Amino acid sequence: MIWEIIGDALRISALAGFGIAGILTVLIWKQNLRTRVTYTRLVVQAVASAALFYLFSKPIPLSYYLLLFPLTLFFGRLYCGWLCPFGFLMDLISQLKRIFRKTYRILPDRLNKSLHKLRYLLLLFFLLLPILLWIMDPPPNPDLAVVKLQYLIGPFQPYTVLIDPIMPLVVPWTSPFSFNSIYFNYPYAQNIVTYVSGDFGLAIAVVFVGLTLMSSLLFRRPWCRFCPTGSSLAILNRLKGFKWAPLLYIEKNEEKCKDCEVCKIACPMQVSELCEQKNGKIASSQCILCARCVESCPHPDAIKLKMARKALFKSRNSAGKIPKWIRKLILRSK
Ligand code: SF4
Ligand code: SF4
Repeated sequence: MIWEIIGDALRISALAGFGIAGILTVLIWKQNLRTRVTYTRLVVQAVASAALFYLFSKPIPLSYYLLLFPLTLFFGRLYCGWLCPFGFLMDLISQLKRIFRKTYRILPDRLNKSLHKLRYLLLLFFLLLPILLWIMDPPPNPDLAVVKLQYLIGPFQPYTVLIDPIMPLVVPWTSPFSFNSIYFNYPYAQNIVTYVSGDFGLAIAVVFVGLTLMSSLLFRRPWCRFCPTGSSLAILNRLKGFKWAPLLYIEKNEEKCKDCEVCKIACPMQVSELCEQKNGKIASSQCILCARCVESCPHPDAIKLKMARKALFKSRNSAGKIPKWIRKLILRSK
């Protein structure tokens, strides 16, 4: 009964959210209102979380959600920037911080780049784990079918790790994390409890939740710098043979850019290519297409978010109106 009521409420709010997000998007597109992209994105993220809750309440096989990955070839990491429930949670924490007028910490460029490289090792580890388990405990008649089964229903299934950040944070099934009959999912926590049995597993899950929430108070999108799902999306995003494919991308115009570095400071992923690259499409597997750089840039037409060569958002002239927190961070980073 309670789930039917929650389900109906979510369906209504999803429809209302779609309506509001649609109106805001048209307004921004027409008038290119600065600073509204962030709020539109929060609405879209909330609607996406509600839609995912609805989808996960239906008997859709988990593997269908992997269809998201090929879409990356055309829409980049749009999922990370606009739809991921875990990304939404981290963005909400960032917004809380803005309410209390606290600034973020900026990672040194070299450390940030190293962390981004580390995520590929983490992804490789998860993908190879079934093989390691297989070597440690070999099946009696190994053949290709056994290898496939090991990946799909073996003691460790890598695709469940990839799907974890796609699951909503409130789930329509029972989970070990509940409050008043509402069941929560925190990415990876359920997997940790499943694969590491007993109190030790629970302790690791609690530490993981604590660390990711606390670090979100200090840095923007901390987990996105390691996330195996984000890494896989990033790999597809950078495949050499598909450089023609992206329909959605950030573009920089060197003639209009004044090298103020406001965009890089505003960028939650600290994409350094925004400053390093001279012209054209920003080629970075870290970019989650959140458009923070576009809404923060004080120089007209220097950066644009484009869809199939048409500008969706472009930077406007707001010279002298650089937010105080960005100015503070620029000073701190020099
Ligand atoms: S990197 Fe991972 S956690 Fe971050 S937005 Fe992408 S899928 Fe979500
Ligand atoms: S480069 Fe721009 S769109 Fe990409 S993650 Fe950074 S702020 Fe967002």
